[in-house]
Amino acid sequence: MSALLEVDGLSVTFRSRRGETRAVDGFGYTLEAGETLGIVGESGSGKSVAHLGILGLLPSSARVEASRLTFAGRDLLTLREDERRKLRGREMAIVFQDPMSALNPLLPIGLQLSEVLEVHENATRRDARRRAAAALGEVGISDPEARLDVCPHEMSGGMRQRVGIAMALLCRPKLLVADEPTTALDVTIQAQVLDLLRDLQKKHGTAIAFITHSLGEVAGLCDRVLVMYAGRVVESAGVDALFSNPLHPYTRGLLASVPRIDGDVSRPLRAIPGSPASLVRTSTSCAFALRCALAEDRCGSARPALESHQSPDPAHRAACFRAGVPDPAESAP
Ligand code: SF4
Repeated sequence: MSALLEVDGLSVTFRSRRGETRAVDGFGYTLEAGETLGIVGESGSGKSVAHLGILGLLPSSARVEASRLTFAGRDLLTLREDERRKLRGREMAIVFQDPMSALNPLLPIGLQLSEVLEVHENATRRDARRRAAAALGEVGISDPEARLDVCPHEMSGGMRQRVGIAMALLCRPKLLVADEPTTALDVTIQAQVLDLLRDLQKKHGTAIAFITHSLGEVAGLCDRVLVMYAGRVVESAGVDALFSNPLHPYTRGLLASVPRIDGDVSRPLRAIPGSPASLVRTSTSCAFALRCALAEDRCGSARPALESHQSPDPAHRAACFRAGVPDPAESAP
């Protein structure tokens, strides 16, 4: 049986008066039903743009190409726009970092939630309102009937994100793209939102593509993880393998930059030197070369492929000529 989502060779190119900029280049993964995949990387690495491209939510100035892009056995590349629109909301949904991106701040949330059911499932107004209240109750909003008449601008950020999640899950989609859903929230609410996603996934078996900056969130929520850099996947593995045996210097740098509760407080945290690469300038070399302490001549003249390396996880892959070699800074006193 084929995977729920199959993406291979995805590229996204933006056209402007100054020319073309490729933001995603050769991105791909497969996601099984009910699986949670973490996608991590710094700002500008292409994680959100890739997923907006998969969902068909990019503006017309973006050109999305792929050698394969299928969802539940359907080829998304050949679907008409109205067919893709029907899929979105009903079978594929997204939760944004800022829930205001999905909600009208001035319309009562009951109206906005009901509309999803009326459009996608031809629900009657009465039934849609009843189901909207049930969805709010499911995401932990108290007194949901009364809340239907409240507008998003009257709610806290955490409450709005719960409404965003309720809206995304209203039609029981097979796939949920959660695009940094906790970034704008404080730590306590972040933990509540992660618990909520975990519970809802267990209950409904939704597959989740979880986009985040936070390796801690990946560890707590995901089955597998992709690390993105400059529009490409540089490492992919099961969560345990990635944390216990990171192979790519960028992944190792990310992990070393995170404070640990059991870490040595006398040692400063390591930072990854330099700034993110421009993909356009690095298409014939390793995009990480200018920031990598392990770089050697071949890194500047060829781009490493994403391939298997020695790891307890047979599906562990990294795009690095020196995968698994420790950075000398890791053992420095
Ligand atoms: S291919 Fe070379 S430059 Fe790129 S990450 Fe590996 S060692 Fe560093």
